[in-house]
Amino acid sequence: MDGFERSLLDSLSAKKEKGLLRTLHPIDWKQEKSVFSSNNYLGLARDERLKKAAIQAIETYGTGSGGARLTTGNFLLHERLEASLASFKQKESAIVFSSGYLANLGVISALMGPGDVIFSDELNHASIIDGCRLSKARIVVYRHADMDDLRNKIRSAQETKKLIVTDGVFSMDGDIAPLPDIVEVAQAHGAWVMVDDAHATGVLGETGAGTAEYFGVSDRIQLLMGTLSKSVGAEGGYVAASRTVVDYLRNHARSFIFQTSLSPGVVASALEGIRIIREEPERRRRLLKNARLLRDGLTKLGFTLVEGITPIVAVMIGEAEKAVRFSARLEEEGVFAPAIRPPTVPQGSSRIRVTLMATHTQSEIDQVLTCFEKVGKAMRII
Ligand code: PMP
Repeated sequence: MDGFERSLLDSLSAKKEKGLLRTLHPIDWKQEKSVFSSNNYLGLARDERLKKAAIQAIETYGTGSGGARLTTGNFLLHERLEASLASFKQKESAIVFSSGYLANLGVISALMGPGDVIFSDELNHASIIDGCRLSKARIVVYRHADMDDLRNKIRSAQETKKLIVTDGVFSMDGDIAPLPDIVEVAQAHGAWVMVDDAHATGVLGETGAGTAEYFGVSDRIQLLMGTLSKSVGAEGGYVAASRTVVDYLRNHARSFIFQTSLSPGVVASALEGIRIIREEPERRRRLLKNARLLRDGLTKLGFTLVEGITPIVAVMIGEAEKAVRFSARLEEEGVFAPAIRPPTVPQGSSRIRVTLMATHTQSEIDQVLTCFEKVGKAMRII
């Protein structure tokens, strides 16, 4: 073994000792019902209608798009998907990327650059952080959802182009960003706002359009970003915005320009997923009801949760190694809910991240509560 490989192995061993080693975990799809960690919130990734739409598109167009959007990879299907997203998000236009990760990377790095400033919530998703870094703009991180901190920091900014960027629903804590306050601060200081609604699309708002709709502030948010890989049940990312912004991104967002476009099957299933989200609000209601049932049950048992209403339920454990053991014990009991550890979350705040789905039944939720009670008592957490 040479020095290069030795250094990699040493780094992995050090991670393992601290309980921070990440390993892949194959999921048997037949056991989805005991999986309490999926982002397939509405169950649409297994919906027959999405499957059929994908199969039909594959039969018609093939499995791969064969090119980037600006070359040979632009099908009418892609344009229909963008039109559907613009209408869903109540914006003039939308642009689709191959993933939410690439959307954040492309949008932020295209719109912002040296001489500009970005205000970013400290708990924003990694793809936002990477997009900010790639832009080379000045990055100012404000304390999580802390509007006083944001106001203090934005007050002294001299840059002309200012962007405030936040998750709509925070992916590891499940709380909702204070958008009414954020848009007020933005307006007072001539800043634009970008919201990453990966976890709120299909979940919050009258029509499932997300946190901006939930708070009634969609028209005051310039950039509504989201992913097609969670509630929508497919894959891909997007931003809905003004026509000018979308035209600009088509010309400047490198992760849009230089990537092969989404495959037809994925695009067709996303279109069907959005249609169902808009036409079947009962799925959303069931999801939020399930979230309430589990949150109430866990609180009653004595667990500490990050408070909220969303289907992302963070059950605080503390040390990474303890959270890993807790998760392993849960799995022995038949429930899959992973431990989330640093660097994804801050030191000492390792947790079990449980996510609900609209398709979970009351008896499955009861089973999860029974397992948490058993493991929690055995490990003296409750
Ligand atoms: N933003 C947030 C808040 C996310 O949670 C995720 C996915 N974990 C992404 C962006 C990236 O989306 P995708 O998985 O579609 O790349």
